[in-house]
Amino acid sequence: MALITKKIKGTEDVLPKDSYRWQFVENIMRNEARSYGFKEIRTPVFEHTELFTRGVGQTTDVVQKEMYTFDTKGGESVTLRPEGTAGAARAVLEHSLENDGLPIKASYFVSCYRYEKPQAGRLREFHQFGLEEYGTQSPAADAELICAAQSIFDRLGIEQLRLEINSIGCPVCRAEYHQALKSYFEGYTDKLCDTCLSRLDKNPMRILDCKSPICSKIAEGVPKITDFLCDECREHFDAVQKYLDAADIKYTVNPTIVRGLDYYTKTVFEFVTDCIGAQGTVCGGGRYDGLIEELGGKHLPSLGFAMGLERLLMLMDTQGIEIPKPTGCDLYVAAMGENAAFKAFEIIKSVRDSGLIAETDVVGRGLRAQMKYADKIGAKYSLVIGDNELEQGEAEVKNMESGEKTRLALDNTFAEKFSILEITDDKAFKI
Ligand code: ATP
Ligand code: MG
Repeated sequence: MALITKKIKGTEDVLPKDSYRWQFVENIMRNEARSYGFKEIRTPVFEHTELFTRGVGQTTDVVQKEMYTFDTKGGESVTLRPEGTAGAARAVLEHSLENDGLPIKASYFVSCYRYEKPQAGRLREFHQFGLEEYGTQSPAADAELICAAQSIFDRLGIEQLRLEINSIGCPVCRAEYHQALKSYFEGYTDKLCDTCLSRLDKNPMRILDCKSPICSKIAEGVPKITDFLCDECREHFDAVQKYLDAADIKYTVNPTIVRGLDYYTKTVFEFVTDCIGAQGTVCGGGRYDGLIEELGGKHLPSLGFAMGLERLLMLMDTQGIEIPKPTGCDLYVAAMGENAAFKAFEIIKSVRDSGLIAETDVVGRGLRAQMKYADKIGAKYSLVIGDNELEQGEAEVKNMESGEKTRLALDNTFAEKFSILEITDDKAFKI
């Protein structure tokens, strides 16, 4: 029995007292996405396994080691999404979204599932916000995407997050680079981990993303991809940087960034911090011009990024960024006796309908306990209804901070008069 009161390792609950922090961050992301012209897409939490093996890439850690894959009762292999892009790309194809005009700009919030070793900033269920743009090869789109991520961090007040960019070229220039990497790593076959050895022939760039300290150390000396870029990729990368300069976005070029998923081409970027320990990549993204073709569609150059909400909230915490707590309650109506309780119920309904937060007793507490509760939930105003108030048809609304009282009629004008009182009092506090 004890088992059912324990969450699964690597998962987290967001409790009612803390959810405002998530909502605050999500609202900023939603608004920012909107101002950059992105509309939300929602896709299923599970997909055919093949979508991820093809879309994310056979030689990636995600596909080789981390996916939650199972057979359904119908004998199909399905996988809990390890990331958001493959599902979005599948939906673009399935609904022929290119017919609505290009570029297709979509934003998403997703929970993701990866069987990883749980540690600070690394969970088995985690959450991402991401932007996706399909149907543009212009470097302006790469820069637009990076700007959108930067704007979100700025609006959240986040500092000490550096932007690192790179270009990993296209299949044309990468063929030569793969050769150079292979020759380099072949000098270390006695030291590389087994996974990297198996990647040496198929996809040597994956070795650059290995988390083993020995492989990372060896990877420090690799030839730089930026020395192998073809003319088109070089021009694209230069133009992305010019657009970023024009938008006054600060960045450094880091030729070792390759990203963890196979589908990337040309621009890749990460927002990295040293403030939250080893898992310091808060956001990662780039261009994946070949993805839609890989999934069976026409050539549709695309790009996107995803940021991890848990790591972002951790970073805001360590930087002491205060997230404004929402008002708990505008009005608490305490009631003495059954008739008063009915009246209280009527009053809170009208106040709630007017858009404010109102509460009354639904537990059966006595008056003192009700007032204690009003204090506990931080009610800005309280109102006590008893036999006298019912008889007079009026009651005193008390400002819990200043103690000031105002008499209001307990009829259908109450909500309107209360909201005016609320606004004027609020102003008075601010002056
Ligand atoms: P890492 O190198 O840290 O494993 P990744 O390259 O696998 O990251 P992406 O697939 O690019 O990560 O996902 C984008 C973002 O999602 C990451 O930058 C990170 O903020 C977040 N993220 C990825 N995996 C996890 C995880 N297991 N737990 C929490 N957040 C994660
Ligand atoms: Mg990873």
